Amino acid sequence: MNNQVYIFDTTLRDGEQSPGVSLNLNEKLQIARQLARLGVDIIEAGFPITSPGDFAAVQAVAKEVRGVTVAGLARANFKDIDRAWEALKDAEQARIHTFIATSDIHLKYKLRKDREQVIEAAVAAVKHAKKYTSDVEFSAEDASRSDQNYLCRIFGEVIKAGATVINIPDTVGYTTPEEYAKFIRYIIENTPGMDKITVSVHCHDDLGLAVANSLAAVGAGARQVEGAINGIGERAGNAALEEVIMGLHTRKDHYGLITGINTQEIYRTSRLVSSLTGMPVQPNKSVVGKNAFAHESGIHQDGVLKERTTYEIMNPEQVGIIANNLVLGKHSGRHAFKDRLAELGYSLNEEELNLAFSRFKVLADKKKEIADQDLQAIVEDEIKHIPDTYVLEYLHISTGTSVVPTATLGLRCGEELKEEAACGDGPVDAIYKTVDKITGLSCVLVNYALNAITGGKDALGDVTVKLRCGENEKIYTGRGISTDILEASAKAYVNAVNKLIYDMK
Ligand SMILES: [Zn+2]
Repeated sequence: MNNQVYIFDTTLRDGEQSPGVSLNLNEKLQIARQLARLGVDIIEAGFPITSPGDFAAVQAVAKEVRGVTVAGLARANFKDIDRAWEALKDAEQARIHTFIATSDIHLKYKLRKDREQVIEAAVAAVKHAKKYTSDVEFSAEDASRSDQNYLCRIFGEVIKAGATVINIPDTVGYTTPEEYAKFIRYIIENTPGMDKITVSVHCHDDLGLAVANSLAAVGAGARQVEGAINGIGERAGNAALEEVIMGLHTRKDHYGLITGINTQEIYRTSRLVSSLTGMPVQPNKSVVGKNAFAHESGIHQDGVLKERTTYEIMNPEQVGIIANNLVLGKHSGRHAFKDRLAELGYSLNEEELNLAFSRFKVLADKKKEIADQDLQAIVEDEIKHIPDTYVLEYLHISTGTSVVPTATLGLRCGEELKEEAACGDGPVDAIYKTVDKITGLSCVLVNYALNAITGGKDALGDVTVKLRCGENEKIYTGRGISTDILEASAKAYVNAVNKLIYDMK
């Protein structure tokens, strides 16, 4: 049996379905490029028929990202499949991922079809997809609540029709590791042709078991795991891929399996996804949380200092967290700056490098020691992938305990400097009202979060905002970084507004 587990990333499809998350085309491309660097085997870039935006994103990833299979989702009908193929056709390797529900509860209430009709639709869909590409994945939605003998029949038929990957998802996050392993084993043993295809699993985390269920399924013979970075996705999310990967990697003695992942890219991928989706990673999150490698107890610290493996089963370098934290300061030159960024994996063009370096110099005046996290924040903040319609030129705030908070702001829009002032309930509110006055947009602030990037009084403040505009249901995420949290707040808001304007064009 094959000892490689294929990693199928659905951050851009299922992950993007997380409530409150909406990525634009450039953000999706940025994530896709990083996923390719991470070494995932398949990127599910979207569900092309659902919207022109999804279509465009799948098409852009298919055209641009190399060294990875690009998948597009399609229901089991010709229209969906044709549309998926249109988006995928320029991919180096394209996969059509088609699905239909198989549980009685879905058949009765959602599809209003009987079991035979569902088999017919599935077979026809796979045959149709097969005309376009040899790589066709079939998913039985809500498989874990479907009759296992019925699944064996439908899988047998779609394999005959040409499916090369069979996905057995736990769509509703209901199963348990023991039950799921038994279930997968039964299906593998009782479906004709199963030895010739790849068995896949796709687990949701409603009971906190998505990763455990995925690994149990791998133990039972599954060789593809679907999931999302940081475990984002519908409801409680998908299996967190970084956990699945490090589980297989760290317990190779137990599973005896490998992946094609470059684990040192894990941390950066996690940060990028968190920053672009505006979904923070909890500090105690496995593998990528801020505290995942922090030892607090004296006994543990003592042990780790004497011998790391006393309390560490993985080390931070393995997932790309760089131990050498204090690197640059005021006197560091452009060359050292560029080298350090290269070590962190950023390759910037000349213009981007100039921008980031001048930003670094400003920061170095305020902050003595500049950590890698600061550098990452500068680069992520400075290198915008959409045109900035508005740029914050200056900001003046008057606030205190016995005055009405008032903001005066200048935003540059092309050649023009637009200035306004407004009062608010607090200084941040005053800033946002002023920005709205200038842009003429009336935005609703859906979420505001402030984090310190490193410790210390001179730490950079990292503000993420989510906003919505008028009738538009779509949410835009903006991020701003500065040692001054009001400036960071203003920048985050302006960033989200720029994305909104870009999207409306
Ligand atoms: Zn899902």
